[in-house]
Amino acid sequence: MENTQYPFINTPLPYAYDALEPYIDEKTMHLHHDRHLMTYIENLNSILEKTPALQRLSLEQLLRGLPRLPLALQTQIRNNAGGVYNHRFYFEGLGRPSAPSEELEALLTHSFGSMTDFQAHLKTVALSVFGSGYAWLVRVHGRLAIITTPNQNTPIERGMTPLLNIDVWEHAYYLKHYNLRADYFDDWWQVINWDVILQRYTL
Ligand code: MN
Repeated sequence: MENTQYPFINTPLPYAYDALEPYIDEKTMHLHHDRHLMTYIENLNSILEKTPALQRLSLEQLLRGLPRLPLALQTQIRNNAGGVYNHRFYFEGLGRPSAPSEELEALLTHSFGSMTDFQAHLKTVALSVFGSGYAWLVRVHGRLAIITTPNQNTPIERGMTPLLNIDVWEHAYYLKHYNLRADYFDDWWQVINWDVILQRYTL
């Protein structure tokens, strides 16, 4: 469901709350989508309600245009529009266990050596995020790269095209994995929707 402009609504997950079991548990999905994402949506709407000039901008336009916004608004928009963007991107990139197509595997192998090397590199980077944030696979200057963002910052404000993200805020995994981010990464890896990742690359 497309909802790219004010007023923002919490569009449903593209699968059932328990679809990612046993890798990501149903309760975490409920809390993550219905409460954490919902809070970013409510905060973003409340900022935009007071800023009519920005109401016609899409989520991506808000984030790409951050440097041109009044300084006082930049942090609020980065945190809350970023929170909506990053969570939708994360949820939409997951699904029932699948395997990457030959085309995607060739792209990743070309950039990282092998799928195993890609997985290991992404895991190392995801574990390296201090505090809250994300690890990402992005396309930048025609190449694939793995990067991190703190808090709810996004790669799009840095001019990159995101392809895949893992939310490493503790709320994404604490109920099932406690403080074990590495175990969460291994489970998350099982439910990546590789078809969506390739679509994002080819768009
Ligand atoms: Mn989150």
